[in-house]
Amino acid sequence: MKKKFYYNLHMHSCLSPCGEVEMTPNNIVNMSKLLGFDIIALTDHNTVLNCPAVAKLAAQAGLCFLPGMELSTSEEIHVVCLFASYDDAYRFFEYVRSTQMQIPNKEDIYGEQIIMDENDIQTWRVDGILWIATGIGVFDVKKLVEQYNGVCFPAHIDRKSNSLLSSLGDIPPECGFNAAEVYETAKIGELSKKHPILNDMFILSNSDAHSLEKMREPESFFELEQATPEAVLNFLRTSP
Ligand SMILES: [Zn+2]
Ligand SMILES: [Zn+2]
Repeated sequence: MKKKFYYNLHMHSCLSPCGEVEMTPNNIVNMSKLLGFDIIALTDHNTVLNCPAVAKLAAQAGLCFLPGMELSTSEEIHVVCLFASYDDAYRFFEYVRSTQMQIPNKEDIYGEQIIMDENDIQTWRVDGILWIATGIGVFDVKKLVEQYNGVCFPAHIDRKSNSLLSSLGDIPPECGFNAAEVYETAKIGELSKKHPILNDMFILSNSDAHSLEKMREPESFFELEQATPEAVLNFLRTSP
């Protein structure tokens, strides 16, 4: 029998330069549990390196966890990429990094990029700026992510920056996306009138939290037999 599982598949840790230092692995998992989520993903900008700590803590807390990344395409469009295993996510990350210019981070301007272990102890600081564009184009990203057994969808398409609509003005079918994340879900009707392709897409709503305060209450759920990373990816692959 299928059950409702509440999800948040887009949020940032202290490894994202724009993520608050309070977004530690323990705080992310504890707050997710407290708010009543069943399924969570960590999606830092162009990196996956805080996923192992969050995965460990999520397992202890009984949450289903998906390692992920918010990829910046070459057009600076944000795309959420999710994987069932850290191995797949890490291999994807290595490829992503190979396409990105390595520019030293300026912590005082862009923010800190901290990797933590499961005790919230800093193990490393990433030197290169993480948020800059990669060499992966938005028309190529879906096929590429699939090569790593992952699933992806354009992030916050209704935002005024770093979104499919703000960059291209449209949702080109050639991108192949079957799902999209909308930030202001109350405006989905209006948005679908303008972009009817959205009627044939699965619409996701996630917090995109960069701070604990922005980790809003659960809104959206998947109906699944079981909450496993594979079940979530399969659901997203085959929806709507
Ligand atoms: Zn974004
Ligand atoms: Zn984000």
